[in-house]
Amino acid sequence: MMIEPVLTIVVPCYNEQEVLPETIFKLQQLVKELIVENLVSKDSKILFVDDGSKDQTWNLIYKEGLKSEFVRGLKLSRNVGHQNALLAGLLTAKEMSDCVISIDADLQDDIEVVREFIHKFRSGCEIVYGVRKGRKTDTFFKRCTAQGFYKLMKKLGVDLVYNHADFRLMSRRAIQELEQFKEVNLFLRGIVPLLGLRSDMVYYDRKERPAGETKYPLKKMLAFAFDGVTSFSVSPIRLVLIIGFFSFFMSLLFGGYFLALKFFGNTEMGWTSLITSIWLIGGLQLIAIGLIGEYIGKIYKESKQRPKYIIEMDMLNLLKPKNHLI
Ligand code: UDP
Ligand code: MG
Repeated sequence: MMIEPVLTIVVPCYNEQEVLPETIFKLQQLVKELIVENLVSKDSKILFVDDGSKDQTWNLIYKEGLKSEFVRGLKLSRNVGHQNALLAGLLTAKEMSDCVISIDADLQDDIEVVREFIHKFRSGCEIVYGVRKGRKTDTFFKRCTAQGFYKLMKKLGVDLVYNHADFRLMSRRAIQELEQFKEVNLFLRGIVPLLGLRSDMVYYDRKERPAGETKYPLKKMLAFAFDGVTSFSVSPIRLVLIIGFFSFFMSLLFGGYFLALKFFGNTEMGWTSLITSIWLIGGLQLIAIGLIGEYIGKIYKESKQRPKYIIEMDMLNLLKPKNHLI
């Protein structure tokens, strides 16, 4: 019989003081149940990653960590964003576990399916994706934009798992392989399928956020989508090139037409056509330069090889308080 795997549940948290007490309680309850059901080892843990919160988040994690044998914490030195915080958690957790499940602090994802995650892991899957059955709890706007995003990514040849966010299980092996992807512009949802390891999906219903507000307002969401596109594909630049050729061709046609008018018709040329074409060409050029700049900016960021996060404090090994705990 296989011995129970050590599980770590990684939870990135940014200003989550409203939901955290309940999340801590529910996740601990879950881990205890999993241990009783002999699904995971007694050494399983929950690792909360505080992504530079400005509220009481770290204090809550810290206090619970002192009390509970299941709760551990990682405090990043500043806010580095969901994806980087998640990576910090995954890389730290892999040292102490056989498999890691990542989940958002608001528990919008259904923790009951964690059992299925573990069953699939125990039957040989390296990655298990949590996939939302539908998007009933989303606003109409979010549903449309999300759908558009998946379609766009697919067109661009990026292999995303439809309706999967960052609720997934990864084996230690999968995280080790993930570590080889050194890019600064992290988009885990795009990278994880690239690993190509054996994977499966588990379907669940996503709930509404119980408290606190979304940390992804429209502006951040758009930036995230844009990063997702430009991190994985150079098609946008190619598109600009095509538009450029098209507009060049069109201007030749227009030129011919206006010349013909000059010689055979009314020479009173409108100011409008002139000004429109200036704006058109100007706009196209700006788009092209902007896009190229975006890619160059990415190359610039990557070339600096900066660390993605800095761990200010951890409470991982409570038996050895030499870790700068207090
Ligand atoms: N989060 C984070 N750093 C950030 C923004 C968000 O660690 O800079 C965490 C947040 O605490 C939550 C998860 O990322 O656990 C997803 O955020 P949220 O639930 O607000 O996103 P939504 O579900 O609205 O897409
Ligand atoms: Mg959420």
